[in-house]
Amino acid sequence: MDNKQMADLLFSHITATPEEYEEKYPKRQIEEGTVVTRFAPSPTGFLHFGGLFAAFVEKTAARTTNGVFYLRIEDTDKKREVENGVSLIVKGLSDFGIEIDEGMLSETKEKGAYGPYIQSKRTEIYQCYVKSLVEKGLAYPCFMTEEELSEIREKQEANKELPGVYGKYAKYRDITVEEAKAKIESGCEYVVRLKSPGKPENRIKFKDVIKGEIEMPENILDVVLLKKDGTPTYHFAHAVDDHLMRTTHVIRGDEWISSVPIHLQLFYLCGFKPPKYAHISPIMKEENGGKRKLSKRKDPEAAVSYYSEVGYPKGAIWEYLMTLANSNYEDWRIANPDADIEDFKFAFSKMSKAGALFDLVKLTDVSKNYISTLNAEEVYDLVVDWAKENNEKLYNLLADDEEYAKSIFAIERGNAKPRKDISAWSDVENYVAYFYTELWDRNLDFADNLSNDDMIEILEKYKEVYDANGTAEDWFPTVRDMAVDLGYAKAPKEYKKNPDAYKGHVGDVAGVIRVAVTGRRNTPDLYEILQVLGEDEVMKRFDEAIEKLRG
Ligand code: GLU
Repeated sequence: MDNKQMADLLFSHITATPEEYEEKYPKRQIEEGTVVTRFAPSPTGFLHFGGLFAAFVEKTAARTTNGVFYLRIEDTDKKREVENGVSLIVKGLSDFGIEIDEGMLSETKEKGAYGPYIQSKRTEIYQCYVKSLVEKGLAYPCFMTEEELSEIREKQEANKELPGVYGKYAKYRDITVEEAKAKIESGCEYVVRLKSPGKPENRIKFKDVIKGEIEMPENILDVVLLKKDGTPTYHFAHAVDDHLMRTTHVIRGDEWISSVPIHLQLFYLCGFKPPKYAHISPIMKEENGGKRKLSKRKDPEAAVSYYSEVGYPKGAIWEYLMTLANSNYEDWRIANPDADIEDFKFAFSKMSKAGALFDLVKLTDVSKNYISTLNAEEVYDLVVDWAKENNEKLYNLLADDEEYAKSIFAIERGNAKPRKDISAWSDVENYVAYFYTELWDRNLDFADNLSNDDMIEILEKYKEVYDANGTAEDWFPTVRDMAVDLGYAKAPKEYKKNPDAYKGHVGDVAGVIRVAVTGRRNTPDLYEILQVLGEDEVMKRFDEAIEKLRG
């Protein structure tokens, strides 16, 4: 009776019952084994790489079973919130192609039948469940002041006891309705605490999907469920939300492992079926021979905006995230180079218990490989998208002549061994520079093993034999024949055998042509480059080079 009166005293404004919410948010009609996950960030600023990784794992786990992945915004801590915090997260996810099935779409919009998906709009739901706990004698108002709380903390520290409000330290555990009423009427503030039935000698066990069997002491703390302003703590909101939103797998950072005893107790006392837990270890980084957590403060690559700015395509980021997520992914990729990443069978059991190691060099490598598998159209579209926001000059050049740009990206692409010159879109300006007068610095990096006169001779001769309509097959033999005519060996091997007999070899001759048209000693296929540049431009470049060599 007293409990009922207490509940009415504290929550006179709450008329709904848990049963009504159970009905409003029914069990999902999904097959056994279907996974429902959520990404549940606080809107506190930019998306961290660790957050992106968690969201990727959550999305992947749901997708693999045709399940549901939703975005819930945990904004119960108003002090840490930033303006447009929700939009920053939504954009962060969509920039990397992590689409949600349900949840927040912007600061105010959402989709899905299990909302609201932002905690500040769920206050009444939490209060309804706290009310029912009070009714069952499982929660109570606690009027302890800050001073009283620090006092017990000091005492507990001195006695080397567990800190917190419990047992004899729980001053208001047995408060009567009359006392509570008097306190409230006199203006005292209060929180609502759990009346934990836990016992110090009890232990609980649970099986973490990533970390395996874990055993811990049962929770004995009278943890706060509702703060003074009536909003829930993380613990309580987690229990209510993940129950009502019918999450099957709570995938989150392993800083929450120590709170699992509280969470399991809350699920039990509220009459909820607990979810499966999958605690992800933080992403680590190697430094000075040791390992440390990837840090928001120290590492620019900790902010996901870094990857958009450098221009790693999201397909490459996915590849990399999957290598971090499942240790067997790389082998699978080698065995299935053309398969869709979505065909890979993600498994929690293949996740690192110790924390995946972040490695920017590796990401760059993965990205290079990924980009080498794209066709010219795909590269063009992605570069243009990136350049639009990050490199206006490049964007204008590429957009001005789409066909020309695509013919550049088509060079040595689509064959069995595509080149891997581009690891991120910010490499493209340099990669395409000699195809655009606006970008090319015209610095001709000739090798120093031939004299200027020899090089002039090569270019003049090549101008005569160069055939703009020649085929790829004819190209090299033409250069070779010309080389031989001019006194160069027709192959490096031959030259090495008898260096005194030649001025150099065919490679040196091709090198002069290459530098004259591109400025560089190393480029993709020269024949293709000449084709893209076209006869007029090529001839102009030869003339300019000859002039420069003449000094
Ligand atoms: N809002 C919590 C955080 O950002 C979420 C943890 C969870 O996924 O449950 O740490």
